[in-house]
Parts: sequence; C-alpha cells; structure tokens
Amino acid sequence: MDLLTHCPLCDHETFRHFLTCRDHTASGERFDIVECEACGFRFTNPRPSADEMGRYYESTDYTPHQDTSQGLLDVLYRGARLYTLRSKHRLVSSLVPHSPGRLLDFGCGTGEFLNLCRSKGWDAQGLDPDPQAQTVAAQKYGVAVDDPTQLRTMPDDHFDAITLWHVLEHVPDLFATVEQLKRTLAPSGTLLVAVPNCAAFDAQFYGADWAAYDVPRHLYHFRPDDVRRLAAHAGLTVSDVRPMRLDAVYVSLLSEQYRNGWLLRAPVVALLSTLWAARHEHRHSAQLYLLRHTDAP
Ligand SMILES: [Zn+2]
Repeated sequence: MDLLTHCPLCDHETFRHFLTCRDHTASGERFDIVECEACGFRFTNPRPSADEMGRYYESTDYTPHQDTSQGLLDVLYRGARLYTLRSKHRLVSSLVPHSPGRLLDFGCGTGEFLNLCRSKGWDAQGLDPDPQAQTVAAQKYGVAVDDPTQLRTMPDDHFDAITLWHVLEHVPDLFATVEQLKRTLAPSGTLLVAVPNCAAFDAQFYGADWAAYDVPRHLYHFRPDDVRRLAAHAGLTVSDVRPMRLDAVYVSLLSEQYRNGWLLRAPVVALLSTLWAARHEHRHSAQLYLLRHTDAP
C-alpha cells in the first residue's frame, strides 16, 4: 500500500478521516477516504501501489451472473452505455467547430467510443493501461490502443477534443497527467472530464455504500471546486458543467445492491438527486466538466 503524506491537490500534510468504504466488486477489503484539512479534497488513503492495483481490477464480468438483480443491472448498464455512446459523440461534435477533427480518448477501455468516433470520420486515438482492453480493442475494432505512458510522446497543441469518461478518478499521477493532457490539447480544443460528484444528494444518502466511491479503484472523490482547482493548476478553466443523468440511476441501483437494500428505492433516490441538483448548482451524481485553455482564443 502507498500512504500519501501530502494532499494531491494542495500539498497540505494533515488530513481527517472521512469515510471507510468496502470494495464491493473485487476484494471485499475496506479502504479509508480522508479529507484534506486545508482544502477539503477527499482521496483514498492509503491506496494500493502500482504493483498491487491490478488485482483490484480483476473483473467479475466474465463469470455468468446467477443473481437476477445483478443480471438486471448488467442489462441496464449495457443499454445505458449504448445510448450514452451516441450522445457523447453528438456532444463532442457540437464542441469542435470543424468536426470531425482530432480526438484522444484517454482511458478508452475496449475502444467502443473510439470506434464510434472513427466510424464518423474522426482522427481518433485511444490510450488505456489494461492489456486485456488493448487486446479486445485490437480484435474487435482493429484499433491500436497504447499505454497512457505514450501520452508524453504525443505532439503539442494537437487534439481538438480529449475525452476522459470516468477516468480521472483512477489516475495515480493527477497533476502530471492533466499537465500532459493540456499540452497536447489544441489552443481552441476542449478537454471533457466526466467524474462522479460526491457532493450529490445520492452520495449523502448512501454514505459509505455509495457505489461511486468504488474504492480502491477510485483514488479521488471530486467535488466541483476540486475540479476547478485542478484545472487552474494546469492552466485550464472549467467553461461549462453538464449533468450525466443516467449515472444517478445506475449508481443508486448499485448502492442499493451493496447495502442489500431495496432496488425499487433506487429510481426514487436518483429522482430526488436530480431534483435536488435542479435547485443546487452542480450537484448531479456525476458531471461532465468542459475544460479549455485559460488563455483560449
Ligand atoms: Zn488539500
């Protein structure tokens, strides 16, 4: 395990305990989330070292689900993914004036979004650390996916759009990664960062059972101000924040499952979360942050 002695956002050295959460998908182990005493940033600490992290990603996706509720969640998840893939592409296209342009999907997984963008004419590249995902992307879509370490070799001012769909919360070296992404982003480009929001109603309702804490895979638990400060550090500005509406439903269903609760309550919690977010700015269960160069034209 790696114990962080400095806040990843402000470098402060004292933290208070925030929550202890269980890893519901891989290990069953418990992990602490701490809160920086200076800036309030929440992060998983201690966290598995680079060598240890692999086993926490060993997925149960390949074993057949006996349990009906798990099966239902799977179907919902896959359906939602298909729907969101298309809306993600529409959104990215609307943000790039002369689309299709150059796109980087950082943390592209098995390459579904990458493949869709390529089929729409984008010059699209993907990076992902998971060798299995790289193999699937190559076999299924014929796309070569490199390791994220290759980001450093990519040209300056290059991409019109860089997408991180639920990726930044997994990235060990936060500042260095965002700085590199900024470097490769074209002067008028947009960096799209989708992350869970632990300031949402459903996060408060479910507490330690909130599925989007997803320890130890989620290293950081962002709130809107954390994303703004991280962006500013790299010379980027949050130009817009959009809700990821389906996430509230999926996260609530999973959270009910984790606490052996009542699955039918999940849509109600998701609805309350959405209604609450309508009255409180930027409090959706998961949000998409649009980042642009601070000195953008
Ligand atoms: Zn801090």
